[in-house]
Amino acid sequence: MPELPEVETVVRDLRPLLTGRSIVGVRNSKKKLRRPWNAAWNANATGTTITGVRRRGKWILVDLLQDHRGKTHGSQEPCLRIHLGMTGQFTVVPAATPEEDHVHVVFALDNKTELRLRDPRRFGSAEWFASRAELETEMNAELGPEPFGMDAIAFLTAVTGTTRNLKAVLLDQTIVAGVGNIYADEALFRAKLHPGRKGKSLKAEECDRLRAAIEAVLTKAIASRGSTIRDYVGGSGLRGGFQNEFAVYGRTGEACPTCGSAIKCERLAGRSSHYCPTCQPVNPPRLAATRRGARSPSGRG
Ligand SMILES: [Zn+2]
Repeated sequence: MPELPEVETVVRDLRPLLTGRSIVGVRNSKKKLRRPWNAAWNANATGTTITGVRRRGKWILVDLLQDHRGKTHGSQEPCLRIHLGMTGQFTVVPAATPEEDHVHVVFALDNKTELRLRDPRRFGSAEWFASRAELETEMNAELGPEPFGMDAIAFLTAVTGTTRNLKAVLLDQTIVAGVGNIYADEALFRAKLHPGRKGKSLKAEECDRLRAAIEAVLTKAIASRGSTIRDYVGGSGLRGGFQNEFAVYGRTGEACPTCGSAIKCERLAGRSSHYCPTCQPVNPPRLAATRRGARSPSGRG
């Protein structure tokens, strides 16, 4: 499933291809997406100009300008919101390109190109919102901060305020937006934290390490255009390469790149969680030593 780096890659690819273009027509298939595109929106979107392409969490936002020249209510700023689901592809192609199977919504642009949403498994979605400001308010209520430049105290408070394990914490989009299964495992490896540890067991220094690791892993993955798993392609149709740099994700039984131990896989928060049992101990050495030290006097006495 595309996570933040893949969605960011699509957004960066699409931005120069879409910004300033007008939508001259919209057509849709009859098959339903997870949140189905309403055919009535075709007329709404036609005639709008694309003013920007952005990402929020794992969502793609296409900002539009609807110019009602001569009408009393002036211009409006609607927005398209796209989710790639498991297998979504959101790409710009020449209008003459034969339409592949599983294309569900097509936005024809004013330069003989088309923006197409293709999704074989149809877990993705495309939606029209009449007001960008209202959509942002709604999304900000459901999503936590973006992972870049997160507030250290707020992150510490959120992580240590829960008894859930770290895998569940990282998958919770209200704590940090955009991280999914792959990058949760990779960030926990980089931070040397076991995915099964409870959020409340983390010391401030471990929490800082985790925050920095999330940012570092996502930054590296974006630089590699994300990871190509299943049908993922960027907005220009190019694939990603970060799957070749995974330290633990999908590498069960293979050697840890740091210490050579066999990578383990365990089901946590309902998802396969990959980790190195040596680099990411359940009981971190420093904490274990403290506990032994505290126990031994009474044990002897
Ligand atoms: Zn290791």
